[in-house]
Amino acid sequence: MSVPSSVTIHSPATVANMVCGFDVLGFAVKEPYDIMRICFTEDTGITIINEDDFNLPTDPEKNVAGAALLALMEELKEPVGFELRINKQIKPGSGVGSSAASAAGAVVAANKLLGDIFSKEDLVRFAMNGEKVASGVKHADNIAPCIYGGVTLIRSIFPLDIIPLQAPPLFVTIVHPQIEVRTSDARSILKQQVLLKDAIKQWGNIAGLVAGLQQSDYSLIGRSLEDVLIEPVRSILIPGFDLVKQKAKKAGALGGGISGSGPSIFMLSKDEATAQEVAKEMKSVFESISLEHHTYITTINTEGVKFIN
Ligand code: ADP
Repeated sequence: MSVPSSVTIHSPATVANMVCGFDVLGFAVKEPYDIMRICFTEDTGITIINEDDFNLPTDPEKNVAGAALLALMEELKEPVGFELRINKQIKPGSGVGSSAASAAGAVVAANKLLGDIFSKEDLVRFAMNGEKVASGVKHADNIAPCIYGGVTLIRSIFPLDIIPLQAPPLFVTIVHPQIEVRTSDARSILKQQVLLKDAIKQWGNIAGLVAGLQQSDYSLIGRSLEDVLIEPVRSILIPGFDLVKQKAKKAGALGGGISGSGPSIFMLSKDEATAQEVAKEMKSVFESISLEHHTYITTINTEGVKFIN
């Protein structure tokens, strides 16, 4: 089989948790995405070249893309060298899987260069090493949808058990207020114990959401987009959160909530016109408190990391 001399990819943003599925559900979106190019080098090791202004580390052990590649290289029979160029469009720390896009994109591109020797599950396993660098823990709720595309259920990470889920067409409105929420802070404020009555509500919602997606039942999807465990605690880190959600739903959104650990907020809608209206309402809240923000109106990305050439 002939292998390319270089591989260019688009690695998409992802929305982890999907409201009720903390650490177990996530989906990929069409926009924004990072652009990455990888090729072999004569010298062994990893050279990272950042082509954006985010000033991320070029030391492979500190850059999530490098950490993921190092895990992949440990399983190769012969030492190799890679040069990786990263042009990030997904702002780090925005809550839409910036670190996952780099980690997943790097190993998917490297695998193509190597002649497709690893499975998707292997690639998730390597890329999770990048998430460990970013947030201190391995998790796959951004990595899995980035690699598989669409909506994914991560039933378990040790051992890995990833289930791609069918979903009906959905429009996604994402608003990113320009404040910093550190993933480590967003995790440390969570309660370590939950009440049984809350747990029952939560797993009812997760099951309802999965069933709603499989059956293309928009009303069931909407009813299930409720989080009684994480959102009440985390939403205090995002100014205007309750009003944003209230106005988005009034404008016709099926539902939504915090994207990953925030500060981005996402809403799902059945059609584009509603998603536009929802964006307008969400923006109006941040405008009223003079909080700068970026908005994306996009759809679910069913293919994951995309090969450009
Ligand atoms: P997000 O949810 O947007 O991925 P995180 O806080 O989980 O945000 O991850 C971003 C952290 O990972 C930042 O501290 C950033 O400096 C670090 N990091 C290291 N390498 C990269 C990379 N290639 N892409 C994105 N973030 C990276």
